[in-house]
Amino acid sequence: MEESPATAEPLIQLTLGNNVEPENKTIYNFMDITKVHSGSDLIEAAKKNKMPILNASVDTVPNIYDLEDSEKRTVLHYLALNSNSFIFNRLLIKFQSQAKEWLQKQDKYDLQAIHYFIYSGKIDMLDEISRYYIPKNLLGMAAIKNDVLTMILIREKLKEETFKNKYQDAVTPLHLACSTKSDYAAIVLMKWKHPINIQDANGNTPLHIAALNNSYKLIRKLIQRGGSINIRNKKDQLPIDLAEDYQTLDALKSFRFSWKSLLLQLNLKPRKRSYMQSLIFLLFFSITNFGTIFLVQNSTNKDQNTGSFIMFIIIVTLFFICFLLVSYSNPGYANTKDEQNLKSLLNKLEPFEICYDCFIQTPDRSKHCEFCKRCVIKYDHHCPWVNNCVGNDNQSIFWLFLLFLFLDFLLIIILGILALTDQNTMENNNFTILIILTIIEFLFMIPLLNLILTQIRNYYSGLTTYERLVLGKPSTKKRESIIQKMSIVQQG
Ligand SMILES: [Zn+2]
Ligand SMILES: [Zn+2]
Repeated sequence: MEESPATAEPLIQLTLGNNVEPENKTIYNFMDITKVHSGSDLIEAAKKNKMPILNASVDTVPNIYDLEDSEKRTVLHYLALNSNSFIFNRLLIKFQSQAKEWLQKQDKYDLQAIHYFIYSGKIDMLDEISRYYIPKNLLGMAAIKNDVLTMILIREKLKEETFKNKYQDAVTPLHLACSTKSDYAAIVLMKWKHPINIQDANGNTPLHIAALNNSYKLIRKLIQRGGSINIRNKKDQLPIDLAEDYQTLDALKSFRFSWKSLLLQLNLKPRKRSYMQSLIFLLFFSITNFGTIFLVQNSTNKDQNTGSFIMFIIIVTLFFICFLLVSYSNPGYANTKDEQNLKSLLNKLEPFEICYDCFIQTPDRSKHCEFCKRCVIKYDHHCPWVNNCVGNDNQSIFWLFLLFLFLDFLLIIILGILALTDQNTMENNNFTILIILTIIEFLFMIPLLNLILTQIRNYYSGLTTYERLVLGKPSTKKRESIIQKMSIVQQG
């Protein structure tokens, strides 16, 4: 963490913005501490981190712990903000008898010196300060900086650190993470079961805050994990209303997408694996297939139909075998690890190389599946029809599954059409039903052919569906890494 004087580093103001002007989009205002506060020279010196003055004062000024400015901040608050542990420790030793009381002094925002140390990334001061009293409610100060390593260390050191500890105006660490687009911190907080739909004093949920801050990624993550788009704050605003009022366009885009999404309307969120979609698919398959075959078999010329009936039985059997195999196979899940592993990864990797759900280094060409809750190696897509991911280890079975599905529908469409053209042999009612079934089967061929074409294109481009999707989107780290890998492959 780089050292900079407090003047360059804005403090977080935890008072919620009921009085926020429309042009100011951040709900948790950052306060400029260069504003003149009625403080003493010594507080000014601590604020600006002027070492000569501080050094001289430590030994000479007798009542340093009584000083506070109009923000109710003491010298300790500003030293902490400037990560000045040297002067800080000297003061604690000199004023040993008042140290405990002094350390616990809260500023206007109910924050103590330790909160500002955490905000500045100086977790080692927690041990120092814990000798005098056990602080609490520190997670948010690290979450606001997207500092997952510090968050883990806080949890290790403070066993009682939970989401029940709130900041001023009932603000939680997840609210704070959303206020600064700290997506890694937010994912870890959700993983630690911090409530997603909790409201602060103004009724805002983390989703409201993410909407205000125009965080496309966080809005998606929150909704996927059960964040409600229907909670109103005390001004009767939904998260999407805030995005509209403040014209946070990325946020608006992700809300409109969610708004229209059929899955959301059917209330299949939060995302989890569900056998329901698989069952609906199997039901559809059975009705169209067995309905058609029944009607075709009931028309005359039974002898003529025997050959095609046997072919149908073979294809259906192969289809069901592939369906079961692809549904129950492991698509190539990466093993999840514990917090200790995440800690060691954070010390050696770039933050974006880590999966904050599985606590592992994101394997090559993998993606974390929100339905399976695991990272899938060579992730292609999560297929709701088979209720499983398609990835490295079941890609070829998935291709066979598509092949037999295609052959099956091709066969029953042909058999249906043949029976229909031979209409003398069929009752009127059956004729109508067979026409309807054939039309439905035809319509089903459209998405199926689309899926098959996608897979063929994937095969020839050497990319997965997901990778081609990312390539079609604006530049991200993920996109860059895919392009890099593609050029390596081409060179090789
Ligand atoms: Zn993962
Ligand atoms: Zn999946």
